Amino acid sequence: MLHIGCHLSSSKGYLNMGETAASIGADTFQFFTRNPRGGAAKAIDPDDVKAFIAFAEKNNFAKIVAHAPYTLNPCSDKEATREFALSTMADDLARMEYTPGQLYNFHPGSHVGQGVDLGIELIAKQLNTVLKPDMTTKVLLETMAGKGSEIGRSFEELREIIDRVELKDKLGVCLDTCHVYDAGYDIVNNLDGVLDEFDRVIGLDRLNAVHINDSKNPFESHKDRHEKIGDGSLGFEALARIVNNPRLKDLTFILETPNELDGYAHEIRILREACKL
Ligand code: FE
Ligand code: FE
Ligand code: ZN
Repeated sequence: MLHIGCHLSSSKGYLNMGETAASIGADTFQFFTRNPRGGAAKAIDPDDVKAFIAFAEKNNFAKIVAHAPYTLNPCSDKEATREFALSTMADDLARMEYTPGQLYNFHPGSHVGQGVDLGIELIAKQLNTVLKPDMTTKVLLETMAGKGSEIGRSFEELREIIDRVELKDKLGVCLDTCHVYDAGYDIVNNLDGVLDEFDRVIGLDRLNAVHINDSKNPFESHKDRHEKIGDGSLGFEALARIVNNPRLKDLTFILETPNELDGYAHEIRILREACKL
């Protein structure tokens, strides 16, 4: 069965997200660990987490995805910004242990003119500080569109980060379909070729999740504007082939399309109907 859900608001807690997901036909979801622009996270309610874990088990949920705030930039040229990224990620990962064994996704960062090599060094340095041997969470590097000085615009850049991290078993990758198409990987006309390349450069065993989004912009535009499923440059057929690819089977698929709940319910339904695996 296809494991699919969408990005949800975390304002009413974990159980509410689980129930909302189930109500729209999802068996997973994604949420921001705190305000996407940063700031303090709401205290975790252990009873709410317990109730959610029981609910998720009963409803056979797949792994859920926590998304770090967008403001987190481990390779900023400002020390204060790098320190914020470090303390935020450390705090997020401590909180993740309330829900053991789940996924934590982050945008690797923007080198803001310092160069890709230094950017990669700084990202790896942060990961080497926050990753701990006893952690049960998998930390995912997201594939990026290559907007501005974003790192993660190629599989090679992600591989370079992974190569520099000591606790490699704590690391995975989340492939964002809008971002990779924007970055110049033609998953519309050559999905298997792109997956071969991912496998050769990073290894498909590191792929844990897919952000399944259409794109408002044409191939290789480096813009990062998500579109509703079927309304963008990737199109429904290409996205249906992605959820049907045997090499992507059993991953967590998350919609980050511009929708309200009813729109997400519709997209989950049409992608489930399209999935023959
Ligand atoms: Fe993201
Ligand atoms: Fe994404
Ligand atoms: Zn995006």
